[in-house]
Amino acid sequence: MDNKQKKYYLWILGCQMNIADAERIRTILNSINYLETNIEKDADVIITIACSVKQSGIDRIFGKSKNWKKRKNLITILTGCVVKEDKPKMEKIFNHLINIHEINKLPRLLNIESDKISPSRDYLEILPQYSDKIKAYVPISNGCNNFCTYCVVPNTRGREKSRSSENILKECKELIKNGYKEITLLGQNVNSYGLDLKNDLSFPELLQKVNDLEGSFWLRFSTSHPKDMSDELIEVIANNKNICNYIHLPVQSGNNDVLKKMNRNYTKEHYLELINKLKNKINPLFISTDIIVGFPGETKKQFKDSIKLFKKVKFDMAYISQYSPRQGTGSFKLEDNISNKEKKKRKFKLDKILKKDALKNNKKIISKTLKILVDRHKNEYYYGKSETYRDVRFKSNKNLLGQFVKIKILKSTTFSLEGEIKKG
Ligand code: SF4
Repeated sequence: MDNKQKKYYLWILGCQMNIADAERIRTILNSINYLETNIEKDADVIITIACSVKQSGIDRIFGKSKNWKKRKNLITILTGCVVKEDKPKMEKIFNHLINIHEINKLPRLLNIESDKISPSRDYLEILPQYSDKIKAYVPISNGCNNFCTYCVVPNTRGREKSRSSENILKECKELIKNGYKEITLLGQNVNSYGLDLKNDLSFPELLQKVNDLEGSFWLRFSTSHPKDMSDELIEVIANNKNICNYIHLPVQSGNNDVLKKMNRNYTKEHYLELINKLKNKINPLFISTDIIVGFPGETKKQFKDSIKLFKKVKFDMAYISQYSPRQGTGSFKLEDNISNKEKKKRKFKLDKILKKDALKNNKKIISKTLKILVDRHKNEYYYGKSETYRDVRFKSNKNLLGQFVKIKILKSTTFSLEGEIKKG
């Protein structure tokens, strides 16, 4: 009999939600005495958590899986955002494909009898084994009802299902009690949290309740859909000290016809109005966005609207993607008629504006003092993020990991700041 403790390797593609999913998978596998390894070749089981939007994530799986075939006895499992169109190819690579809602079944797939995690338990209620000791992700919902035409989430994760506020608050309370200093509430669209629950809280109410928990911590959330961001939410962010002055608000395009084709259900005017309200109420404020260039049919003129919008908003950060058709999405049927060269050119143009604005915004902070949550130490520097999500580094002889410190900013680059501990 082979008594060697079995090892598993988690390969996480994509977003924060996938990290939160991995933390639950970890709980299940640890409960059956499997050991996590970060060396892929040592693993008996490889679990891949696939990504929702980009075809490139799926393509990477094909590349990596070539080595797996040569390894006898290796078990490979795929979960996360996998559409039915991906399945025939994936079934040739992986031993098992499971829906993310079904991860409780992992012991059974590995032929292990275990009653530690009930198979009927909602997977988001599995107590996670957090990846970090300072910052934690807390999913508040899973799935989405929006059907943006470039995204597979509604087909892979299903319709939006919110966790009860009672369970979310319990988890947050426990995290703060255990010394966590930052909580990020996660959902594909946090702004529609609770709409599927009867007699529970709305998102602004939930945010307020988490903010009111006792302790010293920061609160962030992601992601907000512009069509559902309410004035009430903006007020809650503006009026509460634990909620960070940071908004990630994906715009996706600055052109109304393209937004319509993407099924985003807002206009650029609505988006800009939200940005104005946010800027007027919350100061200082760090704003980031997601945008896609080269969506099918996006003309040069339409793309210019994205340029105009970038120039107006002056984002601090933007995640700019070149459109790539993903099977199982609405836009997959549309002709991907913008050349890669043109997509690259458009990305470059937005990048250039972003870098100019981000540098300008960062320069304004020189000689100001920022509160930082220190989360990393490398060589002579400590690193952390400010409340406004700016990357800051500084030197110190003391171990300051996991602490809030005040840093006087002395230097800036496009996306980072450097300073020294404020004296006195
Ligand atoms: S809001 Fe749109 S992009 Fe976001 S998860 Fe839902 S369908 Fe996907």
